[in-house]
Amino acid sequence: MEETIDYNKVTGMVHSTESFGSVDGPGIRFIVFLQGCQMRCQYCHNPDTWAMETNKSRERTVEDVLQEALRYRGFWGKKGGITVSGGEALLQIDFLIALFTKAHELGIHCTLDTCALPFRNKPEYLVKFDRLMEVTDLVLLDIKEINEAQHKIVTRQTNKNILACAKYLSDIGKPVWIRHVLVPGLTDRDEDLIELGKFVKTLKNVDKFEILPYHTMGEFKWRELGIPYSLEGVKPPTPDRVKNAKKLMETESYTEYMNRVHNA
Ligand code: SF4
Repeated sequence: MEETIDYNKVTGMVHSTESFGSVDGPGIRFIVFLQGCQMRCQYCHNPDTWAMETNKSRERTVEDVLQEALRYRGFWGKKGGITVSGGEALLQIDFLIALFTKAHELGIHCTLDTCALPFRNKPEYLVKFDRLMEVTDLVLLDIKEINEAQHKIVTRQTNKNILACAKYLSDIGKPVWIRHVLVPGLTDRDEDLIELGKFVKTLKNVDKFEILPYHTMGEFKWRELGIPYSLEGVKPPTPDRVKNAKKLMETESYTEYMNRVHNA
């Protein structure tokens, strides 16, 4: 994107906004959900964001979105700000650069919530990505599954770019929150949780490592869209399973874990 472009006029396909987000970044935040995602997570609670355009999404300018966000600035306090989520926000990187640049000019904290599938560790991609990181304060990075084969089952996509993005963010020292959605029978396999924990320990920029228990609140959207829901009947994880996952991810190695379990 040329610097001469008026960032206020750059447009993005916006699915929806939320005025008082309290879980997607620090403090109270204005959340912008962008349209479009190439993953097909079995537990997705926003399948209506998958298509790049729908009859419900709207093409909006940066200026328009920012004006709406600023109405809530009084609630943000010192920590809050704007989070852009999706869908997959990185699919609209030009819009992100423009929005975060204008928001930063106003001193607003900007968080990017991404699954990072579009990330490429290639010079031509990094030109824009680095520009985006200059105006991004925090990245919420979802790691759906550390095991490549299982990742494909969960999302129908590879996790290579996602892990490469995690490493890159560590190399440039960008603060991240790593998040993992715990789905019984799908993303709660002991050995994978241990590997995920080990991988996260190799990163130098993790401010938070969160387990998000799977919930069924998005199930009705699949029905509305006429898409079969493969997790029909799967219940959210019990508190014990969540506790187990947290413990496993803190385990140093699978062998150590196996020894502990078998010697108990
Ligand atoms: S990455 Fe997010 S929006 Fe895309 S399919 Fe997965 S959960 Fe849904």
